[in-house]
Amino acid sequence: MDSKSPTIAVNNGPETQLQVIDEDQNFSEQFHYYMKHVWGLADRGFDYNMVAVFGSQSTGKSTLLNRLFGTKFAVMNEKARKQTTKGIWFSQASGQNVLIMDVEGTDGRERGEDQEFERKSALFSLATAEVLLVNMWENMVGLYNGANMGLLKTVFEVNLQLFHDRNSRKGKTLLFFVIRDHVSKTPLNQLADTIKSDLNRIWSELSKPEGLESCQINDFFDFGFVSLPHKLLQPDQFNQQADALRLRFADPSNPQYVFKQQYHKMIPADGFPKYAESIWEKIVSNRDLDLPTQQELLAQYRCDEIAAAVFEAFADAIRPLKPLLESGRLVDNLGEQMDHHRHTALTHFDKNASRYHHEVYSRKRKEHLAKLNAELLLLFLAQIKNAAKRSLQLFRDSLKKRLGSTTNSSASSPPDYDFATVVKAASTKVLDRFNEQARALILEDTDWSYTAEAEQLEQELLVITDQLKEEEIKRLQRRLEKMVQSKFTEEVATLLNEPKEDMWSNVLRMFLDVNEFEEKALRRMAQGLDVPKPELDRLIGQFRLTSWEALYTRIREETSDQMMLVRLRTCLEDRFRYDEQGIPRVWRPGDDIDGQFGVAKESMAKVIPLFSKIDVDGFELELEGYFPSSFDITDHIELLSPTKQKELAKRFQREADALYLEAKRSVVVTTAK
Ligand code: GDP
Ligand code: MG
Repeated sequence: MDSKSPTIAVNNGPETQLQVIDEDQNFSEQFHYYMKHVWGLADRGFDYNMVAVFGSQSTGKSTLLNRLFGTKFAVMNEKARKQTTKGIWFSQASGQNVLIMDVEGTDGRERGEDQEFERKSALFSLATAEVLLVNMWENMVGLYNGANMGLLKTVFEVNLQLFHDRNSRKGKTLLFFVIRDHVSKTPLNQLADTIKSDLNRIWSELSKPEGLESCQINDFFDFGFVSLPHKLLQPDQFNQQADALRLRFADPSNPQYVFKQQYHKMIPADGFPKYAESIWEKIVSNRDLDLPTQQELLAQYRCDEIAAAVFEAFADAIRPLKPLLESGRLVDNLGEQMDHHRHTALTHFDKNASRYHHEVYSRKRKEHLAKLNAELLLLFLAQIKNAAKRSLQLFRDSLKKRLGSTTNSSASSPPDYDFATVVKAASTKVLDRFNEQARALILEDTDWSYTAEAEQLEQELLVITDQLKEEEIKRLQRRLEKMVQSKFTEEVATLLNEPKEDMWSNVLRMFLDVNEFEEKALRRMAQGLDVPKPELDRLIGQFRLTSWEALYTRIREETSDQMMLVRLRTCLEDRFRYDEQGIPRVWRPGDDIDGQFGVAKESMAKVIPLFSKIDVDGFELELEGYFPSSFDITDHIELLSPTKQKELAKRFQREADALYLEAKRSVVVTTAK
C-alpha cells in the first residue's frame, strides 16, 4: 500500500499536503505513501506530534496553519468568499516531525446544513491530534449561542463517545484557543475567563453517558489561550506574535512548549495511516467508536503485519540450512546460528511492535516466537537425526578398528583387549558427544527435548554391541575349535598307536583335560562380555559337542582301513620281529618261528575289537550331564562294525602271512649260505 506512487496533479513539484478525506468522504490510499516518502515520518515511532484545527469557516484557519508551520493549505480567495469544497487535509510542519490537519468545509451551522461533517471531523481530530487549535474572532468571545460554542458542544459530546470506558482513558487533549483580530483593550486573561466559564456551562449541561456522569472537563482537556493582532491592520505585530506562537510548537525547550507527553495519542507513526483509516471508517459508517478498542485492533493488525515481514526475512535467512541438513550433514554451530536468527527476528519485531497496545503486543510476540520456534524445531530435529546417525557410524567404526585389530592373530593367543571395557568406553564417548551436540541446539523459551532420541541411540548402540558380541563369541569359538583340533591331531595318534587296555581311558582323560583348559578361556571371555549364565552354559555345551565331534572325526581318521592295517602291522612287527628287549630278531634254524608267530598273532587278535568303538566305560560319572541332554554319546562312539572288523582281520591275515613267510625264507637263505 505504501509503495504506491501517488498521482500528483500539480506541475510545480510534489504536493506536500494530501487530501486524506475527500468531498465524498473517501479515505485516501496514499496516506501511507505520504507518511513514509513525502513526510518521512513513518519510522519515527512515537517521536512525532499532531495538531488539528477547528473553527468556523473563513476565520483564517488555513492562513494561521501556513503561517505557523510553513504548510501550503489552500487559503480562501478574498474575491470568492464562497467556498464549497469540504474535506480533511494533512501536511507536515516544515522541518518538524509534526503532522498538521486542516479541515475545510461549508459552515453548516450558519447555513443550517451539514452539521454531520462537522461532527465527523471533530471525532476524527480528537481521536488523532494532541493539540486542537480552536480558532475564533475576538468578537465571537462571549457569544454563548454563537457558532463556536455550538462547535465546542460537539467536541465535548463526541469526546465522551470516544471514551466509553473511563478506566481505559489515558492522557488528555489540549484545546488551544487562538483569538484572532484581538483589537479591543480587553486583556487576554479576561477573554480566556469568559471562554472558560462558557465551556463549564456547556459541560454541565451536557448529558453524560453511563459511567461518566461525574467526570470533569479537566479529566479530558487542558486549555490554552493566545490572541493575535489584526493581520491586516497590524501586520508587524501580527507577524511578531505569530512567530512567538510558532516557537511554542517548534522548540521543546520553550517553557510554553505545547506538546506535552500526556497529550500524545501513542499511535506509532508506522501505524498511524491504518489507525486513521479505521477510525474514519467507523465514523463514516456511524458505528460505535471507542479509542481503546481501536488501538487494540490497530495493534493486532500492525503486530501481524510486522511479524509477517520479520518472518519472511527470517525464513530467507534459514532457508540455506535446510538442504544441508536434508543431505545428512551436521551443520556447525547450528544452535548459535538458530539463536542468532531468532534473536534478530525478535529484536526486529520488538523494535516496531512493542510500541503498540501492550497486551496485544505480548500476545503477538508469543505467537511470533512460537512460529519461529516451530520453524527452528524442524532444523533441530533434522540435526539431531543426523547427529544420531553419525554417532552410530562412529561407534561402529571405532569398535571395528579396536576389536578387529586382533582378528588376524594366531588362534592360540587370547585377545589383547577386554571387550566390555572397550565397548563401554566407545559407547560413553559416543553418547557424551551426542548429548553435547544436542544440548548445544536447545534454545531458550522452547520445550525442545532430545531424551527420546538419546534413548533410541542408546538402544541402537546396544543392538550393535550385541552383534559385535556375537561376532566376538564366534571368533572365540573358532579359535577354540582350532586349538582342540590341533591338540587332538597329535595326541590321538600317539595314544592310539599304543593299543593297550587303558587306551580309551587315556583318550577320554586327554579329551576332558583339553576341554577343561579351553573352557577356562571361554569362561574368562564370557565374563568380559557379560554373557549370562544360561547362555554361557549353552556355549560350553556347544563347545563340548564340537570338541567331541573333532575328537570323533580325528579317531575315525586314525581308524580308517589304511591306518588300521598300518597300525596292526606295526604291532605285529613289534611283537614278532623284535624280542622283549626291542632287539631285531635274526631267525636261525631251529628257532620256534611258528610258536613266536602264534603268540604274536594271538595278542593281535585282541587289538581289532579294541578299536570297535570308543570305550567310555568307567567315565559314566564324569560324563553324566557333561553334554547337552539332546546329545547321546553312544551314537557317537562306533568305529568299526563287526563286518568291518572281520574284513580287516582278513586283510591283515594276508599281511601277517607275508611276514611269516618272510621270516621262514630268511632262515632258508641263512642256511643256504
Ligand atoms: P479558513 O476558511 O478558516 O481556512 O480561512 P482562510 O485561511 O481561508 O482565510 C479566509 C480569509 O480570511 C482570507 O481572505 C484571509 O486573507 C483572511 N484572513 C486570514 N487571516 C486573517 C486575520 O488574521 N484577520 C483577518 N481579518 N482576516 C484574515
Ligand atoms: Mg481553510
